[in-house]
Formats: sequence, C-alpha cells, structure tokens
Amino acid sequence: SAKSNRSYSITLLPGDGIGPEVISVAKDVLLRVGSLEGIKYEFREMLLGGAAFDATGVPLPDETLSVAKQSDAVLLGAIGGYKWDNNEKHLKPETGLLQLREGLQVFANLRPATVFPQLVDASTLKREVAEGVDLMVVRELTGGIYFGKPRGIDTNENGEEFGYNTEIYSAHEIDRIARVAFKIAQKRRGKLCSVDKANVLEASMLWRKRVLALAQEYPDVELSHMYVDNASMQLIRYPKQFDTIVTNNIFGDILSDEASMITGSIGMLPSASLGDSGPGLFEPIHGSAPDIAGQDKANPFATVLSAAMLLRYGLGEEKAAKRIETAVVDTLNRGFRTADIYSAGTKLVGCKQLGEEILKSVESNV
Ligand code: ATP
Ligand code: MG
Repeated sequence: SAKSNRSYSITLLPGDGIGPEVISVAKDVLLRVGSLEGIKYEFREMLLGGAAFDATGVPLPDETLSVAKQSDAVLLGAIGGYKWDNNEKHLKPETGLLQLREGLQVFANLRPATVFPQLVDASTLKREVAEGVDLMVVRELTGGIYFGKPRGIDTNENGEEFGYNTEIYSAHEIDRIARVAFKIAQKRRGKLCSVDKANVLEASMLWRKRVLALAQEYPDVELSHMYVDNASMQLIRYPKQFDTIVTNNIFGDILSDEASMITGSIGMLPSASLGDSGPGLFEPIHGSAPDIAGQDKANPFATVLSAAMLLRYGLGEEKAAKRIETAVVDTLNRGFRTADIYSAGTKLVGCKQLGEEILKSVESNV
C-alpha cells in the first residue's frame, strides 16, 4: 500500500527497439500524474537486453539487477531485435528478461484484457461478444512444467528417443499465487475463476483443493472452477462471464495469449509481474517492434497502462492509477490514434504527439 511520504524510486529499463520511445511517454505521464497527486519519484534508467549486450557483453548487467532490486518498482519497455538474433555468444537479449524475472522473484503474472469501446472493432470476436470485456488473467510464472524436474530427452532400451517434463506444484506455491488472485478479484468485480485440469492431473487436484480451502479467507469473492479445455472455449464464446482468472504457468501462457486476441490490439495491453515483498515488474506485452523502431510510430498506450498498473499493484497508489486510465479513455474519446489502432474518422498521430495528448487529458481531468 501507499507509503506515507509518497516518494518512490522507479527503475526504468527502456531496452531496445520502440522501448525507449514508449518509456519516455510513460515517464512523462507518471510525472504529470505524480505532480497532481503529491507523489515524487526518483527515476534510475538502466541497461537491459540488446542495449546492455552492446554496452557490457551481457543482457542483464549485475548493476541493473541490483538497482532494480533496491527500487520500489520496475518499468520495462521491450527488448530484442534482429541485430542480436544470431550473435557469437549465443546470448539472446530475451535471456536478460528471464534472469530479471528470476532475480526479482516475481511469481505472479497479471495480464488484463480490456476491450475499449472505442476500439471494439479491433477485436477478433463479433462486436456483441467483445463489447464490455474487462478481465484479468493471473498466471503462475515461476513453477509448474516449465521448471519442473526431472526433464530431458533420453533414449529407451529399444533405442527410441523420448522427451519428458514434470508438472510440480507445492502447496505454498499454489497458496501464494491464489492469494494474489483473490486480492485482485476483491479490487475488481469480486469474481475469481480458477482454471485447472483436476479431472486428469494430480498437480491440478492439489491446486483445486488449496484454492478451495483459501476461499474461506475471502468470503467476499465468488469462486468458481473450470477445466482448461472448457475455459479456452468459454473465453471465445462468452468472455464477459470472466472477471479474474487464476491458473498455472503453462495454462496461463496459453490463455493469456488467447485473451489478448479478444482485444485485438497488441499496442494497448499492459502487464505486471509481482513477487511477495520486493518490487514488481511492469511492461507492455508487445515486443520491441523492430519494424517500426525509431520512426515515432509506436503506440505508447500499453506502456502508459503498465505505468497505471505500477501505481495500483506496485505502489498502492490507486487514485493515481485511475487518473492514468481515465486519461487514456479521454485521449481515445478525443479521437487520437497511432497507426496500429487507426480507423477512418479518427486522428492519426505519432508516439510523441499521442504522449502530449495523454498529458492534456491528465490535466483536463483534475
Ligand atoms: P516478441 O518480441 O514479444 O517475441 P514479436 O517480435 O513477434 O514478439 P512485436 O515486437 O510485439 O512482436 O511486434 C509484432 C507486430 O506488432 C509488429 O508488426 C510490430 O510493429 C507491432 N507492434 C508491436 N508493438 C507495437 C506498438 N506498441 N505500437 C505499434 N505497433 C506495435
Ligand atoms: Mg520482438
């Protein structure tokens, strides 16, 4: 929750491609909202990804991690690009992001999928199905089959190769992700759907049992359970039935990508990754978009909305978060669009000018 002195250290990791362009806009928005709300920031800009690789030879320099760990929240642009795809050290910029997540021990990945009424036609779904969708996928990020051991590719006694992985969830891993999800549901519309495959998988059976037991502590949250096959169908059939979804690493990976297509506009989607006590990591879900980097074409809304998540879930500054979200809606209402969300009758602007318009919206909604 919010500190009494309301002064925060924020690590900025602009990264590569369009990262620096969208981070610059988000920083200005944070500052403007901060000055209206009495919030002060100390920003420290650090290297990550390809930019760090070029300067230091590694995608996550030690200094970046230690500064990030000591700060109150981390705001990331995007990393990667063609330039680093086949380097001699075989070190991908993306490795830096994985190391950062591990270093910050962020086990809860939050991905909202909000269909803005002004952009409903961008959805891959029919207007009447997409209209009004506002859901949040809470994905477990540091456990499950992506990390479980034993794992490998081996050869059996007949000389045939086989590959294997292990889905493991301990009670405390389930409890801590479930608690995050219950609390988010409380702040939203009070509905939580836990997605599993408890009819087939033992790890899911324990998942369901623990989530059910925890529900006692959150009597104001209406809990339901759904098998993942059904959930993936329901997301497309009638997504408005969902408020908050909580699920494991692999199911969350798939469902959060599916949910993002309901909105249809990658430039609008923020995310947050939270741990137990340390700083959270906030970033747009899109990549570094090397095809439009340096051309002032990037849509900064996803990063600006990530800054709103930073205020809400990272600093407990709910009012400031709302101010940003209101300004985003106001900017959309006034018709300003980057190319990726442009439609006839709206006003096409670049990244910088959209940033200026968001600042005007912040000022006009005081
Ligand atoms: P990743 O880097 O996440 O693995 P990727 O490289 O396939 O994924 P992106 O970098 O997100 O994907 O780009 C996919 C497409 O979406 C590109 O054509 C890119 O220009 C466009 N795009 C991504 N983000 C934005 C944005 N913020 N504004 C405008 N266009 C964007
Ligand atoms: Mg990319």
